[in-house]
Amino acid sequence: MTDNKIIQKYIQELTDLNIDKASGIAPHQPILLLSIIELIEQGKVSENKINPSAELYETFIRYWSIITDREPNLAMPFFHLKKKGFWHHQANPEFEKALQVTTQIKTVTRLREIIAYGYFNDDLFDILKQPESRELIRQSLIEKYFADRKQEIAELIIEEYKIGEYSQKILEQVRNAFSAGEKFIPFKTNKSVRKAAFRRAIMSIYDYTCVVCRLHIMTLDNVSVTEAAHIIPFSVSGNDDVRNGISLCHLHHWTFDKGLISLNNDYTVIVSDLLVERGPDPLLLKSLIGSHILLPRKHEEYPAQEAMEYHREKVFNK
Ligand SMILES: [Zn+2]
Repeated sequence: MTDNKIIQKYIQELTDLNIDKASGIAPHQPILLLSIIELIEQGKVSENKINPSAELYETFIRYWSIITDREPNLAMPFFHLKKKGFWHHQANPEFEKALQVTTQIKTVTRLREIIAYGYFNDDLFDILKQPESRELIRQSLIEKYFADRKQEIAELIIEEYKIGEYSQKILEQVRNAFSAGEKFIPFKTNKSVRKAAFRRAIMSIYDYTCVVCRLHIMTLDNVSVTEAAHIIPFSVSGNDDVRNGISLCHLHHWTFDKGLISLNNDYTVIVSDLLVERGPDPLLLKSLIGSHILLPRKHEEYPAQEAMEYHREKVFNK
C-alpha cells in the first residue's frame, strides 16, 4: 500500500471508535490518542512503546479538562483500545498470563502493574512520527469527535507547544554556567505556560519524587503529590534555570519556602532551630538533619551552589 492509502485506512479506523455521546459516555479513547500524539510531537515518545506514565496522564488530564467535566480515567481507554486491532499491549514479566485473562482495568496503578507499555501497529506509528500525516490524523480526530471544541483544542495545542519548547530550553540551559544574579527565562510567555514548563522539566529530572523525603505518591489515577519548587524564589530571581529548582512534596515545599529547612553545600538537609514541632520521631523535620537529598542522574543538573547559598542566607530561619 502507498503511504497515502495507509493514512486513509487508519483515519477510517481511528474515526470509528466506540464513543457514545448521546448516553454521555466520555470520549476516552480519542482523548488518549490526542495525548499520545502530543507526546510524540514533543519528542517525549520516540519509540513505539507508550508507557502509562505520569507524563502521559498529565497530558491526558489537560485535554480531558477542556472537553468534559467528568472524572477522568486513563486506564480504561489504555486497556480497551486494544479491541481496535491497531493498538497492543506488552505485559510486564510474570504478568503475561494475567494480561490474557484480564477483561478490564480500572486504575492506572493496576495498569502499570500488568502492562509495561502499549504500542501501535508499526505502520501506524511510522505515520504518527511524520509531522504532516500526524497532523492529518490529529485533525481528523478533532473533526470527528470534538468539532464543538475545535477552538479550545487548537489553543491547548499551541499552549502545549509553548510548554514543551520552554521546558526544553530550561533543560538545555545547563550547558551554560549558572548565574544566580542573572534572571533566566528563555522567552516571555504567560504564567501558566511558564509554571507548567518548569514543573515538566523538574519532574523529568526527579521523576515525581520529593528530594527530601523520597516520597513518590501517586493517586490511583497517577496524580502526583510532588511540586516543582524554586530554590531562589521566582519572585526574587525570575530564574527558571532547572538548577534553581527541586522536586518537593507538599509538606516539604511549604517548609522549604517558610525557611524551616534548607540545603547545605554538600546537598544535605539542615533544619531550623526556630521551630516547634511535636509528633512521632520519624515524622519530625529534625529527623531529616544531615540526610542527603535525592540528586539528578546528570551532574550538570544538580541544584546550583549559588542558589542553595541564597536560600540558606536569605530564606532559612537561622
Ligand atoms: Zn517530602
